[in-house]
Amino acid sequence: MKPGTQVVRAGIPEAGQGEPILPGPVFAAVYHLRGDPASTPYGYGRFNNPTWSRYEDALSELEGGPALLFPSGMAAMNAVAGAMLKPGDTIVLPDDGYYTFRTVAREYLGANGIDIRFVPTRAMPDAEALRGAKLVYIETPSNPGMDVCDIAEVARVTHAAGGLLAVDNTTATPLSQQPLALGADFTIASDTKAMTGHGDLLLGHVAARDAEHAARLRDYRTRTGAIAGPMEVWLAHRSLPTLELRLERMCDNAQAIAEFLAAQSAVQRVRYPGLRDDPSHEIAKRQMRYFGPVVSFVLRDRAAAERFLAASELITESTSFGGVHTTAERRARWGGDAIEEGFIRLSAGCEDVSDLVADIDRALSTI
Ligand code: PLP
Repeated sequence: MKPGTQVVRAGIPEAGQGEPILPGPVFAAVYHLRGDPASTPYGYGRFNNPTWSRYEDALSELEGGPALLFPSGMAAMNAVAGAMLKPGDTIVLPDDGYYTFRTVAREYLGANGIDIRFVPTRAMPDAEALRGAKLVYIETPSNPGMDVCDIAEVARVTHAAGGLLAVDNTTATPLSQQPLALGADFTIASDTKAMTGHGDLLLGHVAARDAEHAARLRDYRTRTGAIAGPMEVWLAHRSLPTLELRLERMCDNAQAIAEFLAAQSAVQRVRYPGLRDDPSHEIAKRQMRYFGPVVSFVLRDRAAAERFLAASELITESTSFGGVHTTAERRARWGGDAIEEGFIRLSAGCEDVSDLVADIDRALSTI
């Protein structure tokens, strides 16, 4: 089955006369539970929920391994670290990945006796840094710098060193990039972004290659209680059938915007894996079906970036990415990333690209 069909049909229950195609969310903390609790997967709301099961089945099919939902991307990332690491273990992290996870690593993992090594995405696999590591975590493309690394090669070197590889696949989604098929042990995503794509919910998931790892994560989730709300999960499943349509449109728009920006003298640098002369292009072409909705570019300074964002009428200034609305922000306003003051992270939405390019052109002329 082609991915475009899979996203429409995945997780849909067998036809039942008079039943909806996708049943509505099940709101339950308490279920009928007589006698042996093992007789049903639905014993208590923290253990399981039929709305989760349907969407998890869909994600498992798309990812190629058992998938588990979490209430946010951060909860998903922390579950992998929490379930797999113990004091004395080493985790390798990108020094240019999503900055909140670096903060978590420093403030909580490090404080609990876990050794942390940071490596830039473009330097992976760094065999020396991977030596003795229990868990290697990569983000490709990296956010916000748009560097990539070769997942299959990182998996090979990680496994040779006795470690496990987790890939943050948020920007790409499983429609574009398949970390488990490329040899990763875990694929993790913030489904807050392109997977759900409407900017109206937070959600995350992890899929594992090994059923035992998935079972460990499930136990961890059940015990620690990092569970998603059924309404969010149902909305996510409701959004899945349009994933390919949205992604195709967003990535086509991102490509056109990146090409336009690359030709403008006011733009000092553009990073988009789809640009033929981008340092990420060759590897991205090998392992990605789409190059993603995110384009990074640098304007002269902070004032130029702020002016550009204020002058644009079609770019919504906001954080996050992967939604149907084109959004952008001056990334340095948050701190935490080694980037220029004029660095803008733009996420192409589903608007008509000629309107977007005209708007960007006009906004650039004001700086
Ligand atoms: N991973 C990446 C690459 C992200 O950009 C983000 C959030 O921006 C996360 C994970 C965390 O996801 P969430 O905000 O759903 O917790």
